[in-house]
Amino acid sequence: MSYDYLFKYIITGDAGVGKSCILQQFTDERFNPLYNSTIGAEFWAKTITINKKKIGLHVWDTAGQERFRALMQSYYRGAAGALLVYDITSRVSFGHISTWLEDLRKYAADNITIMLIGNKSDLDSKRTVSTEEGSEFAQKNGLIFVECSAKTAQNVEEAFVCTAVAIQKRV
Ligand code: GDP
Repeated sequence: MSYDYLFKYIITGDAGVGKSCILQQFTDERFNPLYNSTIGAEFWAKTITINKKKIGLHVWDTAGQERFRALMQSYYRGAAGALLVYDITSRVSFGHISTWLEDLRKYAADNITIMLIGNKSDLDSKRTVSTEEGSEFAQKNGLIFVECSAKTAQNVEEAFVCTAVAIQKRV
């Protein structure tokens, strides 16, 4: 796969918020995740094009190891972008975002671009976290924000592309 830039992303958030589904939807399920046994994580690969530049994305998933994240400093190392995911029908998962953010601040590069994602936007009738709350949290903490649905694909590509655009602006 050839590209002009290669960005490493990591995806974090509670188990069950839809991280794997987002990655599957984004990569059209054409790629099987590649497993890195050294750090016990999987990564997914896809190339996107922005302003005629090809950008390779390697997106690292915790592969169900969420609880051991503190041990996984190598997982955070070199990441240009982070997708921080909660489920709009789960206030618990939204409440944990500040903990995930603390870990990012502790282990990731200072200038990492962080995209806050409220997933499962197709379940609007079961929503317990409003769009405003998500947006406000993002604004207060210097994050970018989008709501998406891994089920319908709404805004999934946008989440990855907007993150890359923000990274490019600071590179
Ligand atoms: P992970 O543990 O964060 O990787 O979460 P998964 O990707 O395994 O998803 C957890 C559950 O949520 C699964 O049953 C998915 O089918 C469901 N799910 C994930 N994304 C969505 C979504 O956008 N909408 C709906 N309705 N369900 C979703």
